[in-house]
Parts: sequence; C-alpha cells; structure tokens
Amino acid sequence: MGYAVHITIVCLVATTATQMASSCQQTPANLPPQEPNQPNERNVMDITEQEWQHRLTPMQYHILREKGTERPFTGKYNRHFEDGTYHCAACGEPIFTSTAKFESHCGWPAFSSPADPNRVTESLDTNYGMVRTEITCSRCGSHLGHVFNDGPAPTGLRYCINSAAMNFEGIQGKE
Ligand SMILES: [Zn+2]
Repeated sequence: MGYAVHITIVCLVATTATQMASSCQQTPANLPPQEPNQPNERNVMDITEQEWQHRLTPMQYHILREKGTERPFTGKYNRHFEDGTYHCAACGEPIFTSTAKFESHCGWPAFSSPADPNRVTESLDTNYGMVRTEITCSRCGSHLGHVFNDGPAPTGLRYCINSAAMNFEGIQGKE
C-alpha cells in the first residue's frame, strides 16, 4: 500500500517537471520583452490615425499626422535655447539637440542637423506650388517640418521644424 502511494507521487512530480520545462522553453517565443512604462512603443507604425487622434492634441495631430504647419512666431520652441534634447511629440524619439539649434528669424525652431541622420527621413514635397524637402520622423512617420539649404556652416542646412511636433527635455530632466 505504502509503496503504491510513493510511485504515484513520483509520477506527479515527473509530470509537473516536464510541463514546467516545456512552458519555460515557450516563454521567449510567446512573450516579447516587457517595457511596462511604454506600451505599444515598439509598434508605432501600427498605430491607427484614430489612436493618434486620441494620443495627440488637435494642434499636434494636425501638424504631425496631417502635415500641417504652425503659424510663424507662435511655437513654444521658436525662441527656446536651453540645453537639452527635442523629441518627436508623437513617438518620443530624440530627433534634434540644442547644440544644433540656431536663431533663424524665420519664425520656427531651426536646427543645422538632426540628432542622428537615421532618425529623420527626407522626401520630396511639391504641395502648395513649392518644391521642398519634407522631414518626417523615421520611427513613426510623423511630419516634422522641412529642410532648406540656406543654413549656417558647416552643414549649410536649416531644418525648419514645428514646435508642436516636438517635446523638449532639458539636461536636468523634463521641463
Ligand atoms: Zn516619431
């Protein structure tokens, strides 16, 4: 009698161990790495326009997702020259830094170069009877502004970016 009970327990333990081993092997394939504070951040290209509309202010949505332009001299970063990083207001990607920012007197924040060339995408924009180079965020595809070739040395470029398309983070922390 005692012998039979012992066998049963051993079988149960063996079965449980097998199930645990197989579920451990499946875990990496079924569950991607967790980033609890940034839900959906890895799949920004999959966010629908309806979701963007919920996430962004009407002004941000108009500029970022409908390729709008804020009125000159109205943006919060036009005359903003603190040290820090400017992030895409849609997806949070760091796109420009204060070291490249300069006073262009054009009415919009201007930068001589992006934080990293791979973080912005250039494309031809022939709307409104003009030939311009549009700048979008490489990560989420949102419209940021345009780049012109009348900037200061050494790049000679002027990235003319809407304030509402960016969120500034100072060196000491978020402003
Ligand atoms: Zn973005």
